Amino acid sequence: MLKMGRVSWHHADEDETVDLLQSTSDDDNVTSQRRVSNDNVRSLNLSPRVIQPSSGNKALDETKYKYSLISVLVIGIILIMMVNIGLGYRKCHNNEEQQQQAHPSKHITPAQDLCMDETTGLKFPWQKYRLPDRVEPSSYHIHLHPNFTHEDYTGQVEINITIIDTAEYVILHTRGQKILRATLTPAENSPEKQESYTATKTLFCIKNDMVAFHFNKKLKAWDKYSLLIDFSGNLTFSLGGFYLSKYKNQQGKETVIGATQFEPTDARAAFPCFDEPAYKANFSLSMVREKEVHTLFNTPLQSTTPLGGDIERDDFQPTVRMSTYLVAFIVSDFVKISNRTSTGVEVSVYASKDKLDQLNYALHFACKVLTYFEKLFKIPFPLPKMDLVAVPDFAAGAMENWGLVTYRETALLYDPMTSSVKDKQWVATVIAHELSHQWFGNLVTMEWWNDLWLNEGFASYMEFAGVNAVEPQWSIMSEFPLRHAMRAFSTDSSNFTHPITVNVTNSKEINEIFDNISYSKGACIIYMLADLLGKVFFQGVNTYLNTYKFDNAENSYLIQKVSIAARKSHPDIDIQAMMKTWTTLPGFPLVDVNLNGNKLSVSQSRFLYPTSDAQVSSSSVWHIPLSYVTDNNPMHPTKVLLDAEHAVFTLPQSVQWVKLNHNQTGYYQVNYDAAMWSQLINALNANPNAFSVSDRSGLISDAFEAARVGKLNYNEVFRLLGFISQEKMYAPIVTAVSGLRYIGHILKVQLDEEARNQLSSFTKTLFENLYEELSWKNRSSFNRNQMKLQTTITSVMCSVKHKPCIDEALLRFKQWKEEEKPIPPDDVPIVFEAASLHGTLEDWQHLWETFINSTDPNLKQKILLSVAQTTRLDKILFLQSEFLKGETIRSQDVQTLVSGLTTNLVGGTITWRFVKQHWDQIVEKISISGFAMRSIIKLCLDLITDHGEVEAARSFFISKGIGEMKSVLRNLENSEVNAYWAETRLPEVKLWLKDQSRGTKP
Ligand SMILES: [Zn+2]
Repeated sequence: MLKMGRVSWHHADEDETVDLLQSTSDDDNVTSQRRVSNDNVRSLNLSPRVIQPSSGNKALDETKYKYSLISVLVIGIILIMMVNIGLGYRKCHNNEEQQQQAHPSKHITPAQDLCMDETTGLKFPWQKYRLPDRVEPSSYHIHLHPNFTHEDYTGQVEINITIIDTAEYVILHTRGQKILRATLTPAENSPEKQESYTATKTLFCIKNDMVAFHFNKKLKAWDKYSLLIDFSGNLTFSLGGFYLSKYKNQQGKETVIGATQFEPTDARAAFPCFDEPAYKANFSLSMVREKEVHTLFNTPLQSTTPLGGDIERDDFQPTVRMSTYLVAFIVSDFVKISNRTSTGVEVSVYASKDKLDQLNYALHFACKVLTYFEKLFKIPFPLPKMDLVAVPDFAAGAMENWGLVTYRETALLYDPMTSSVKDKQWVATVIAHELSHQWFGNLVTMEWWNDLWLNEGFASYMEFAGVNAVEPQWSIMSEFPLRHAMRAFSTDSSNFTHPITVNVTNSKEINEIFDNISYSKGACIIYMLADLLGKVFFQGVNTYLNTYKFDNAENSYLIQKVSIAARKSHPDIDIQAMMKTWTTLPGFPLVDVNLNGNKLSVSQSRFLYPTSDAQVSSSSVWHIPLSYVTDNNPMHPTKVLLDAEHAVFTLPQSVQWVKLNHNQTGYYQVNYDAAMWSQLINALNANPNAFSVSDRSGLISDAFEAARVGKLNYNEVFRLLGFISQEKMYAPIVTAVSGLRYIGHILKVQLDEEARNQLSSFTKTLFENLYEELSWKNRSSFNRNQMKLQTTITSVMCSVKHKPCIDEALLRFKQWKEEEKPIPPDDVPIVFEAASLHGTLEDWQHLWETFINSTDPNLKQKILLSVAQTTRLDKILFLQSEFLKGETIRSQDVQTLVSGLTTNLVGGTITWRFVKQHWDQIVEKISISGFAMRSIIKLCLDLITDHGEVEAARSFFISKGIGEMKSVLRNLENSEVNAYWAETRLPEVKLWLKDQSRGTKP
């Protein structure tokens, strides 16, 4: 899945002012929401039940896991041959349960934590979060009959199961369905009599989404049965499970479609199933629908049968062996365009009819990148077709359902007339991400969610590698640190970060790790490893994929295969030991560098932003693959491994400067001694081209970070920025803007208008040359770098109130409004934002009406972000009430809305109050632990640096039951970090700005 991004222009720490792949720092990328909250879905549950408090299930204890495997070995080799690793792991649970039952007194659980069936008052026979592993599914046939008018459906699922260990109950997942009947029949080829057994007892454990069926039949190991469950459920507009989505067609007629979003734990919200990634099975589907719509599934349609009247049934071929979270189906009237890849896979892109002409780029790119991945992974795409579908209401950015990838519309549609350069890049990035998952995640799947990063980190790296392969002229790798490293650093520099591999023991925790650590840190450490090993990295990946295809794996299996592949080429590096430090330690290292003649002395420590004068210390030692270039050899890096706290490397000769982390491929930050910083800054200003584009960007970022933690004077940072007025490349400029934005943000929160104006003046002097050269100019002769830069510079100059910029933006708005003169797509957000902030009331109203009437999702998103930036109190309140009504502003767009509202203090303060007041209504619309909510919390807390307010916010979150959520703690800590920075570092910045404004820059 891809979290969503691309919205705010003011909140993006890690991207520039104008784009935005996602927001600030936390796990909360800007536009995404995800599925409905579990609690929300539960409220639909038709059986009368009570939600139980959490019992604090414990995750797998690794020692027991090993023990369990050993016992299994001792018990018998035959069993081992039949039981794969996943089953071995599940046995561990079984043993625990048997113990628990045999010696109940040793395992006393407080009564209030027990999961009880509400109707019968009986204790549920399984108290853990993970399924008991006594029963394993091999195939499902799902039969569904939805009724969009009544917003409900009936269903039947037939699951072929094998009893792995003697069981009294068959226990599986369900959420929100009414179970009508369950019957068990011995498998057709079973020696047993073909007699059906209806469940005599059906118990529910609501908090763990489980149902237990008891049959008057002894279930012995290796017996095979068919389990048939009849059920019914509701369809809601909740963005999770099997849900409804609405859109208006060109004639203004409202059309409803049915779509799914299952990852991570919502397949169970559509049909009863064994909803854990290791329970792979084959799935087939029969969907009853009205004649005027059609069904899409993971596999091609097999047949359509008329059922009389307006009703037909679509039957689909069985899937390959796969996990439940990758199953998907869509019932809609969507239209498609198709093509075949050079290797024969049929690729189709679907959307509502009026958007048909916006699908060409997605189809072109998908065909190319799918073929690229087939070659890279050396495994043909295992399905006959690949559908990509734009869904009008969609929580995440996109979802990699095998053979049927779903996207929010802005991640798939591209209109050359109205979409910007970045819109196009976003479409390519998301498609590359999802299609790489078809191998990494779908073909080989993590055993359990604790290794989610393996899926998401790899796909987040491949989104760049895939785009780079298909669109090499974009030179996109120089933007990798902007999108992933900066974002990962911002979360990972907190005390409340987590190691990349993390235990997760309930749905809330699973949801919470769809964060910057799994995605962006994961991408960074994969990039670092791939860069270190070169092509042998993919040799290891190929072996891994081939070994575990159609099965599950843990992250150590990948590292092991890569390590074997690298033995010859990198005999001196213990890859497994190295990667262990990156996957098990929280945080990341700061490398301090000292140069003395030809002696390069380096030391590492954990990078943390301070919240007080107390020294932060940590004993963590990473194995860092360092790379460096010097003034003697500026383009050819030397690579060395730092696997201790300190080390000294001898250079062949004395040099003036050393630049570590060549091309920013490593996941660490660097600080140099004062003399070397000075030399680097001199060299950079004398000849910026002595450094690669990525290295120029990296030096800016390292300097800002070193200054932020008090290791470098801000005077030096500003001196370093001197070269920026001559810079012509996108990445360094965006990095500089990001560093300045942090200072501007704190000055805004501190209400220091004088210093803000001084910072604005400084910013104008840095960028005025580029503004004159690029802004508002015809782009036809521009290369891509210039196009992206034009948007960035214009946006920055308008945001610092450069008068010619605002005047021009307002003029263009007027011409668009009065004469319908088109605005170039890349200028649209800048022009709209200027109109919203500096235009008339009528201008604002005109924007809002355009929002209401437009069917273009890209345009709507841009308008919403702009109108939300208004400082007019009545309009802010109006937007908030529109969101609650849910008619004009979709739930999926809440992040865009809040992102706009919090760009200024007026909207921000009111919005935080609004969020607190309407908390319950908001969590009915979006998941309390999902991306969107985390983003909202982050955006609101970003505007607080007052200690009393921070504590009040903490109490509020505790009262709402999320006071212990890592992302909440991280955001609260961030407010303290900002407050401490303002106290200790800001005075120096303000002094410099004052001197600068007087023309006495030191
Ligand atoms: Zn993904």
